[in-house]
Amino acid sequence: MKPFIYLDNAATTKTAGEVVDAMLPWFTENYGNPSSIYSLGAKSKEAVTQARETIAKSLGAQTEEIYFTAGGSEADNWALKAAAEAYGDRGKHIITSKIEHHAILHTCQYLEKHGCEVTYVGVDENGIVRLEELEAAIRPDTILISIMFANNEIGTIQPIEKIGEIAKKHGVLFHTDGVQAYGQLPVDVDKCHIDMFSASGHKLNGPKGIGFLYIRKGIKIRSFVHGGQQERARRAGTENVPAIVGMGAAARRAFRILDEKTKKETELRDYLIERIEAEIPYCRLNGDRTCRLPNNVNFSFRFIEGESLLIMLDMEGICASSGSACTSGSLDPSHVLLAIGLPHEIAHGSLRLTLSEETTRDEIDTVVEAIKKIVNRLRAMSPLYEDFVKKNQ
Ligand SMILES: *Cc1c(COP(=O)(O)O)cnc(C)c1O
Repeated sequence: MKPFIYLDNAATTKTAGEVVDAMLPWFTENYGNPSSIYSLGAKSKEAVTQARETIAKSLGAQTEEIYFTAGGSEADNWALKAAAEAYGDRGKHIITSKIEHHAILHTCQYLEKHGCEVTYVGVDENGIVRLEELEAAIRPDTILISIMFANNEIGTIQPIEKIGEIAKKHGVLFHTDGVQAYGQLPVDVDKCHIDMFSASGHKLNGPKGIGFLYIRKGIKIRSFVHGGQQERARRAGTENVPAIVGMGAAARRAFRILDEKTKKETELRDYLIERIEAEIPYCRLNGDRTCRLPNNVNFSFRFIEGESLLIMLDMEGICASSGSACTSGSLDPSHVLLAIGLPHEIAHGSLRLTLSEETTRDEIDTVVEAIKKIVNRLRAMSPLYEDFVKKNQ
């Protein structure tokens, strides 16, 4: 494969070398089932416990409050469905936001078909949840607030502590989809009054197909997978030991390098934003300028089709993402970009670039030059752009 520049770390990340090294023995010599009583099994059980401890510490939680899942989507599904079931006698109302990941939104739609009522609160032009709207949406039968920690498309970080305070004040459970935040931002579940927190391994240089749900002690929550006694009998199935060890190693690594990574990414992120704003006309930065993930850049370019931009960037060996998903031939603009108030045609012309700690200034320079060239070429082919230029002469 020819060299490429990878700027799609919100979609997935490279599994770190030290994570792969940590995982390997659990495929080969240490293959025991954690539920077996002989020492080969006990060794696996110990490795799972260690990973659980590492993760618990990173959140200020207790070891037995961490439940491994097969990823972020499963953790999100579990939190919502199980809370709706366990607290259904108290009420059937859930509050979430319009900019959640589909793992939350589609689960909410499922719950609506099964007797729940869901309020989708709006966000401001930078993607921050409106707190007054959130508080006003709380009803006597509200059982759960689920608001994401940081957005996967525009990188906006929510005022999680304030949301937690509102939930606590009204005696409502608070779940947060922390998939983009975990490993990128410090998280303290007590300080933020978080009752449930979802995370995923592959977003922090860990393996795919593993994640966890933090569930605060004392919260009633039903089993998600029925069967054996694994995960305190709440999520049956033989543990994915190599992936769990990998998730633990990824968490340890992420928090070890957090400060350095944040500093480096923030500098490069701001450099990238600055260059695009200075050198490409008719663009708009999407998401909050400061309450923003250190690795996220999201722009809309007028008179541009995001998909065309992506394809042409791919031809230059650049991996990026756009705000529209090409589903069965029809282009749906991102629900997140629509929620922050972008008109359809501008939402269509968006580009997400998400950095890693390996991203270099040289790569950013190459990418800026490529975007400039492609945007110019696409605009030169656009009749709308031609009209616009004529009118503005
Ligand atoms: C990636 C992502 C998910 C889904 O996680 P998977 O492990 O891929 O299932 C959920 N929420 C957010 C915000 C994400 O970015």
